[in-house]
Amino acid sequence: MRRRVLGSMLLFAFLFLLPYEKHAKVNQSIFIQTVGPSAPVYAYMADELKEVGKIYSGRVFQVIGENKTHYFIQYGFVKGMVKKQDVKLGRPSKFTKLANRLKRSVIGTKDLQVYIFQNGNQQSIGKINAGVRYPVKQETKLFYVVELGGRDGYIYKRVTKKDPGVPVLLYHHILQDKDERFFRATTTVPLSQFTSEMNYLKKQNYTTITPRQLLAYVKKEQLLPPKSVLITFDDGLKSNYVYAYPLLKRLNFKATIFMITGRMRPAPQPFDPRGLQFLSKQEVAAMRDVFTFESHTSHFHLSDKKRGPYLLFKPYNEIMEDLKASIAKVNATAIAYPFGAYNERVIRIVKDAGFTMGFTTKKGTVYPGDPVFDSHFAPSQRKSGGFFVSIVE
Ligand SMILES: [Zn+2]
Repeated sequence: MRRRVLGSMLLFAFLFLLPYEKHAKVNQSIFIQTVGPSAPVYAYMADELKEVGKIYSGRVFQVIGENKTHYFIQYGFVKGMVKKQDVKLGRPSKFTKLANRLKRSVIGTKDLQVYIFQNGNQQSIGKINAGVRYPVKQETKLFYVVELGGRDGYIYKRVTKKDPGVPVLLYHHILQDKDERFFRATTTVPLSQFTSEMNYLKKQNYTTITPRQLLAYVKKEQLLPPKSVLITFDDGLKSNYVYAYPLLKRLNFKATIFMITGRMRPAPQPFDPRGLQFLSKQEVAAMRDVFTFESHTSHFHLSDKKRGPYLLFKPYNEIMEDLKASIAKVNATAIAYPFGAYNERVIRIVKDAGFTMGFTTKKGTVYPGDPVFDSHFAPSQRKSGGFFVSIVE
C-alpha cells in the first residue's frame, strides 16, 4: 500500500515538472502540419501498427522524434507516428499547456474530435479513434482537456467512458464439476465456470495478451486494444493441460502459466482428480502455441511456519540461485510472487536476477505508468458470475 502511494507521488511530481521541461526545449523542436486535409496517426497496439487517429490541416503539432519514414508526435500515452509524406514542416509555436490534475484516462465510445476554441469558434484539430485509452488532464462541465501532438485540446465527455484498466485474471487448478469435491480449495475453479468465463471473453471480443505486451503498455511503449485481458495460471498444474489448454486453443486465446519450475515433471503423469499433478516438460513444450511460461520460483514456493514465505527471509544468494534456475528452465522474464508475498528486498533480488516484471495478488487493474514489479492481479473467484463481469468490463 505504502509503495503504491509513493509511486503515485513520484508520478505526480514527474507530470508536474514535465510541461516546464518541454517549454525550455520548444525552440529546438520541429513542428509539422498536414499536406492534405488530414493525416492519419499510427501507433503500435499489441505489436500491430494501427491507425489510431488523425491530425487536421492548418494546425501545427510538435515533433518528439522521427525515423526514416515517420515523424513521432505525442499521442496520449504513447508516441503517434505520422508518415513523412503526409506532412510538411510548420512554423514553430509555443503552446501554453494546462497542468495534469486528473491523472486518469478515458476511452472514446465514438471517435473523439479534439477541439480548440479560437475567437469564439470551436474548431477540430484532430481525432482520437474510438476505443483508444487516452489520458485526460483536466475537466470542465462538458469537456476533458487532452494533449495531442504537444498542444491542449478538448474532447466531449459524453462520448467517453472511464478506462477500467487492463485486468489480469488469475487461475490455478481446474476440475470437472463432479470432481470438485476432491479438491475443494478456494483456488479451484470448476470447469463449467472456467468455460463460461472464457466463452464470455470470446463473445465480448476480448484480445488475450502476453506479459510482454502488458509490459510494453505499462511502459507506455505500446497501446492495447480496447478490450484486452491477460489470462494467467499459477503453479503449473496438470489440469491446465487437461482442461484449459484444449478450450483456450479452440477459442484462439493466449494465456500464461507461472510455473513452480522445480516441480515440473521429467515425464507426463497420469491425471488423477483426487490429487495434484504438475505439468511435465513434454506438456510444456506441446502447449507453447497457447501458453507463455513464466516463473513462480523453482523450489521457493514454500512458507516457513514462523518466518513466512521463503522469498521474504531466505539469504540473497539462495533466492538468486533459485530464481536463476527457474528462469533457465522456461526462459522466464516475469515472476508471480508465491503467496503474493514480496517487499522492497524481494523486488531488488528479482530485478538483479533479470526479471522485467513482477505480479502480485493485489486486486485491481493495470494502467500505463504502474510500477512494473508491483502490478495488480484481478483474481478470479469461485462465485464469480457478476464479479467476473464487473472486473473485466
Ligand atoms: Zn502459487
